[in-house]
Amino acid sequence: MTHEQQDELEQVALRVREHIVRMSTNGGCFIGASLSCADLLVYLYWRFLNISPETVNDEDRDVLLLSKGHDVPALYGVLAERGFISKERLAHHLSVEDIIYWHPNRGVSGVEFHSGSLGHLLSVGMGMALDARMKGLPTRVVVILGDGELNEGSVWEACLVASALSIDNLVAIVDRNHFQANLRTEDLIPLEPLSEKFRAFGWDAMHVNGHDMRSLDKCFGSLQLNTGRPTVVIADTRRGKGLPSIEEQADRWFCNFSADETDALLDELNGNARATITSERLIVR
Ligand SMILES: [Mg+2]
Repeated sequence: MTHEQQDELEQVALRVREHIVRMSTNGGCFIGASLSCADLLVYLYWRFLNISPETVNDEDRDVLLLSKGHDVPALYGVLAERGFISKERLAHHLSVEDIIYWHPNRGVSGVEFHSGSLGHLLSVGMGMALDARMKGLPTRVVVILGDGELNEGSVWEACLVASALSIDNLVAIVDRNHFQANLRTEDLIPLEPLSEKFRAFGWDAMHVNGHDMRSLDKCFGSLQLNTGRPTVVIADTRRGKGLPSIEEQADRWFCNFSADETDALLDELNGNARATITSERLIVR
């Protein structure tokens, strides 16, 4: 990935974060988890997934399923920036005029399946991946899971079956932000050593910095499918990434900000992005 490509993706991710902040008023949204997976979704839709507004209904398209459906503002932002839906629709978040709502709705172009009740979409994704394989299609199915969502037993049932059926066109990504609602995952039901648990279920497991475009490119560029084993990518992320005032704050998982607060957060977001990009460029380049 060139520095110019990295810059472009980071600018897109910043715009997606702005969309998320704007959706955190007039009823609010799960802003912390949305910000933690924003970079990941941007990377996947711009650099990995074989899907576009023109191919959204093609049978051989890649599929992304957002199992942790409460972070759908990040997906809406990405779908708007990528041209699946208009940016104007994002202003209808929680409005009776639209179905841009707290959880994914497949009535929105680019949303592949409903979610919100946790623990379901790895099974759905496994079925879609198996269907593609039986039809001889090149489709890859990517399912984004929350780390807290891994407490659902149905996730591990899907892991068992995907391994048993050698479904190797299935990639699970864990948004490992270490929070579940207002608790740290390791304080509730500890998940570590997480990659070893997936490997014990017959999966290949990789780790990546979920906020660094170059790391994401290296990880997904080296992804080996057709191995006979499904793959999990554990993406290390920070809840609330991009907004230092809410980042890693246990009580900042769902927020309903006033219009004035939202304006201040947009200023904070852009100031933080300028500072981060400047300091990282000084080190890296
Ligand atoms: Mg989490």
